[in-house]
Amino acid sequence: MKRDYYEVLGVSKSANADEIKKAYRKVAMKYHPDRNQGDKEAEERFKEAAEAYEVLSDANKRSQYDRFGHAGLGNNGRGFGNMNTEDIFSQFGDIFGDDLFGSFFGGGSRAGRGRRSQGVRGTNLRVKIKLNYEEIARGATKTIKVKKYVTCSTCGGNGAKDKGGVQTCSTCGGSGQVRKVTNTFLGQMQTVTTCPTCNGEGTTITNKCTTCRGEGRVYGEETVNIEIPAGVQEGMQLSMSGKGNAGERGGAPGDLIILIEEESHPFLQREGLNVVYDLHISFIDVVFGIQTEVPTIEGKAKIKIPPGTQSGKIFRLKGKGFPAINSYERGDQLIHINVWTPQHVSAEEKAALEKLQDSPNFKPQPIKGEKSFFERVKEMFG
Ligand SMILES: [Zn+2]
Ligand SMILES: [Zn+2]
Repeated sequence: MKRDYYEVLGVSKSANADEIKKAYRKVAMKYHPDRNQGDKEAEERFKEAAEAYEVLSDANKRSQYDRFGHAGLGNNGRGFGNMNTEDIFSQFGDIFGDDLFGSFFGGGSRAGRGRRSQGVRGTNLRVKIKLNYEEIARGATKTIKVKKYVTCSTCGGNGAKDKGGVQTCSTCGGSGQVRKVTNTFLGQMQTVTTCPTCNGEGTTITNKCTTCRGEGRVYGEETVNIEIPAGVQEGMQLSMSGKGNAGERGGAPGDLIILIEEESHPFLQREGLNVVYDLHISFIDVVFGIQTEVPTIEGKAKIKIPPGTQSGKIFRLKGKGFPAINSYERGDQLIHINVWTPQHVSAEEKAALEKLQDSPNFKPQPIKGEKSFFERVKEMFG
């Protein structure tokens, strides 16, 4: 039985990306293999945290998980059961490799780790994706071509022309750092600086790949499938880790940041999770009542306008609004009734209407149980 991912990281369900990252660091540090040598349970906890982080740090997977739990991730919720801790280090290189985490464990100095000093991380890329109301309501898959740095296929990203072309830096012996001893009046002082030969990478390339001139990446294009969960909103950002620019000389890739834009709808207007629709209806139809169709974000819906319906009345189609991204909540469609007043009438029509003018049925009068305008506005927006 798997534990709840939020519980694993010790965060609330509403935690933001930053809080999740921080919480993951904390848990990962606690159960880090360096500090728990040979402790099987700590290792399990470490893997469990990595799995929780992989899901909760990805907006798409997180929303799946929030809605359907572990089952929502299906077979795509990559099990970590077969993963060793080194895999986890490489998977989350961005977290383990950054200064805060790296310095805590003395950097990647341990043999076999080495991620900290390998190459230069690629930068993040941003793309805008425009979605219509229907796509937002259902979720969408968009395939786009992204112009970006991609790993050089000639050298596989290490920047060297041939095998063995990457060598341990002779200046720093692979540590990426050099010590300098200076004599001061207080005595000898030792300073540690980034190795100038390899820029802290610990390796140098003797024979550079001619395709990428040693950079390990080339400018190109990649086709990316973007899974957009239902319920996104204008201005929201999704992040696909590792889909940004390739890093230099085998460095970790950056992320692809997707900025959501909403396409406006010809008839419907979004108000939070609700959708507002203005229905114009003839005076005759509201007198007799009518069954009619209205557009919704997912096709047409039938509604019944009862006889005697007043202008300004708001009908509610439950659940016909937008889904919320991280819960089961769903908005409604609000239909605002506008009784159409004819702009022109023929002489014949005028005569017919004049006959009705003095009928008491046509004189406005207070209606029992009808909500005031103020109450209706409050209901709609408050
Ligand atoms: Zn190359
Ligand atoms: Zn060096």
